[in-house]
Amino acid sequence: MLRRIIFLLLLSILMTPISASLAAPPGASANDAKNVLTKIRWAVHTDAVTGAKRLRLVFDFTGPVKVNSSMLAVPVPSLILNLTGVVPGAGIGSNTKLDGTIADSINAVSNGKETRMKIDLPIMINDTDYKVFVLRKDPVTKRPDRIVVDINKPVLPANFHFTAGLKGKVIVLDPGHGGSDPGAIGPGKTMEKTITLAVSLKVKALLEKAGAKVIMTRQSDRDVYKPGDTAVEELSARASVANRNKADIFVDVHINSFVNPDVGGTATYYYEKTPYDLILAQTIQSNLIHDGGLENRGVHAANFYVLKHTVMPSVLAELAFISNPKEENLLNEPDFQQKMAQGIVKGIDDFFAQAAKMGGEQ
Ligand SMILES: [Zn+2]
Repeated sequence: MLRRIIFLLLLSILMTPISASLAAPPGASANDAKNVLTKIRWAVHTDAVTGAKRLRLVFDFTGPVKVNSSMLAVPVPSLILNLTGVVPGAGIGSNTKLDGTIADSINAVSNGKETRMKIDLPIMINDTDYKVFVLRKDPVTKRPDRIVVDINKPVLPANFHFTAGLKGKVIVLDPGHGGSDPGAIGPGKTMEKTITLAVSLKVKALLEKAGAKVIMTRQSDRDVYKPGDTAVEELSARASVANRNKADIFVDVHINSFVNPDVGGTATYYYEKTPYDLILAQTIQSNLIHDGGLENRGVHAANFYVLKHTVMPSVLAELAFISNPKEENLLNEPDFQQKMAQGIVKGIDDFFAQAAKMGGEQ
């Protein structure tokens, strides 16, 4: 018994400094390893003078903290904070939803020595669009050690001074799905990804003939990010093609599907982040109905990822229903594909004409 106590005593004397020095990351003292992230708070503030919006995140710690920050572009735009010698308290920072406009969510990953906070953003921001600062414990106000992160609401890079006409416009086309993702499949086994690509290639040819510069997220049957990726990774890769290329507009082509095979028609979706998104949806929808002749299912606001995460006016058109056998047959006909492509191109042309009147030519 006594021998066992002496052994344990000896063991604890031997182990304490060793385990502590092992746990301490390079450059940090042993005490830092016990620093716990206890709380994350956030709020959106509006500047009283400029009206600019800013998201402020405050992290509380049990001890002094060191941080370094950087931006990451893939798989989704994110701001990374590396916290040395910090562990998150139970449940702190695991997939916390943020405001959804300035930042989407925050996630903490820790290896027991270092904690990596990943703040997912709708779009890439510049180094000047965020600030990270460290505040020491304040015995007077009883505030703990903190890190404060301010992220400015991204300012749209384009000022949308649109001119009429297609010549010289940069248009990003996104043929929905592709590669490992077939999209919806019709009763006759037609795959959505095949039709969206066929129609988009026809749109591209028509736009280029009119002098526009067209960039496609994919020009063959492939995944845009990588096979078997998550939906967010794939959609983020598509949106970033448009953002990177400073497109004037972004057009996403899809085919609808429903359990009832009798349901059919055309619908166009938009997310109102600029004064132009709705107009683009309206001009494309009305030309698709005019040229394609299917039932008009209207224009609808939607919270779709690519619409929200592209900074320019963007739409998602659901050309027809692949689940409707009649429409599935039509979708396979090159003539019908050409009519739909024409409708999209006329819609884009009408859009620039209207947008120019709205303020581009002032
Ligand atoms: Zn789709």
